[in-house]
Amino acid sequence: MDNDIKKILVTQEEIEQIVARIGKQISNDYEGKELIVIGMLKGGLPFMMDLIKHINIPISIDFMQISSYNGTESSTILFKKDIESQVCNKHVIIVDDIIDTGRTIMEVQKIFANRHVKSIEFACLLDKPAGRCVNYQPKYIGTTVPNEFVVGYGLDYNEYYRNLPYIGVLKEEKYK
Ligand code: IMP
Ligand code: MG
Repeated sequence: MDNDIKKILVTQEEIEQIVARIGKQISNDYEGKELIVIGMLKGGLPFMMDLIKHINIPISIDFMQISSYNGTESSTILFKKDIESQVCNKHVIIVDDIIDTGRTIMEVQKIFANRHVKSIEFACLLDKPAGRCVNYQPKYIGTTVPNEFVVGYGLDYNEYYRNLPYIGVLKEEKYK
């Protein structure tokens, strides 16, 4: 699997530091508030599961699934799984692997628009600003990546590589 990676962009150690930093930030920002942390399946899962261990205030968790990718091209957005929790009057943080075009986040905001949450923020491990086609910046960002197709730590290419412990750029010959 490592042989398919052209270069490593974010190491395992760097991810650990990012996760600890954002966990601390969230703990401070939501102290005394009722918070539900929602992980975006499947890509946001590794980040979500590490992140919640660094949040030291009471939270509940849930998951939802929207898919937008087909290979390396962003395509139509599909709403696949909703949360099971009541979010009315609660603070919500949506956790995902990466914000690229921003369309997924816009879609999630639409879904939550009439659910009467107290607040909604997004935490993305990676930000790929070059891909953005909407004007949105998540409150919590791990690190910025260049305009390349990345895999690992939740991010996939046709469902593979999610289990790499780091973020890397896939060799071009692997998706041709
Ligand atoms: P957006 O809707 O374009 O912001 O894309 C968000 C989703 O696209 C993420 O949750 C990922 O699943 C996927 N995605 C975007 N860029 C990459 C990438 O470089 N590698 C793998 N998946 C990506
Ligand atoms: Mg995804």
